[in-house]
Amino acid sequence: MSTSEPRLRIAMQKSGRLSEDTQKLLKLCGLKLNLSDRRLLAHVSNMPIDIMRVRSSDIPGLVMDGVCDLGIVGDNTLEEEELDRQLKGNKSDYIRTTSLDFGGCRFSIAMPEEFEYTGLACLDGLRFATTYPQLLNRFAKANGINVEFCLLKGSVEVAPRVGLADGICDLVSTGATLEANGLKEVAEVFRSKASLIQRADPLCEEKQAILDTLLPRVHGVMKAKESKYIMLHAPKDKIAEVSKLMPGTETPTILPLAERDNMVAVHVVATETFFWETMEQLKALGCHSILVMPIEKMMG
Ligand code: ATP
Repeated sequence: MSTSEPRLRIAMQKSGRLSEDTQKLLKLCGLKLNLSDRRLLAHVSNMPIDIMRVRSSDIPGLVMDGVCDLGIVGDNTLEEEELDRQLKGNKSDYIRTTSLDFGGCRFSIAMPEEFEYTGLACLDGLRFATTYPQLLNRFAKANGINVEFCLLKGSVEVAPRVGLADGICDLVSTGATLEANGLKEVAEVFRSKASLIQRADPLCEEKQAILDTLLPRVHGVMKAKESKYIMLHAPKDKIAEVSKLMPGTETPTILPLAERDNMVAVHVVATETFFWETMEQLKALGCHSILVMPIEKMMG
């Protein structure tokens, strides 16, 4: 292997909530990653790509500074770094290439159970423990309230109980951690998902070519997750009604069945959720042998 060949460098979270989904996505895109590899700059063996495994909070900066060409990071971490850099007058540009379908959470204000919440105005002048002060500050300003911060990098939920803050502003998905700590969610500040980001300055021709191969694969993997391949046997005279029941499908493939003149096999790719109710309606039309199968990859 030539050492001078440009390699696309992707930053991802080393360990944590986004690392498993990120690894899964990259693998489904065909990248051969050595998972047992302890090196923080891992070589992809079948494509000119290197994976840099770092703390989540370092990813936006690495991309904004052009150290990494791409990064997979939560929107909360990304926008916090962007706002922080803007405040300090540092380089903060990047391209959000694709919004991904994992890492969903909300960044919300939570108060002790006994707090009487009557609207955002009642939070004016209070002190909040948070890991993302810039996001909270932007929200407070936009809503005409003043809040104070206490920066905590973890275990934010404990702050009100120990008298560090009146409330917290933290990432929530189910709300179970809040509840376990005697807190209730009162206002959503920001909705976050993971994003694939790219450095703002143009990539060299070779790296752009690698990205041009990678991106359609990322989109293909996401599309495949939402889609199902459906096969069923349908009465020939019911094809129009059967087609109407298929959610978001392209034209179905109709195939003859051996020794069954009145029935045909219908194959379709459904791009929306396929419900049990739809299967029951299909059965009521006289369809049978209905199979719903996952799709691993899709293109074009
Ligand atoms: P690191 O430890 O890598 O510096 P981190 O402390 O943000 O970063 P995690 O707790 O693994 O690490 O969270 C990574 C990202 O996962 C979050 O920034 C957020 O975008 C996303 N996420 C999704 N659901 C949740 C949740 N319930 N709580 C926290 N983060 C969540």
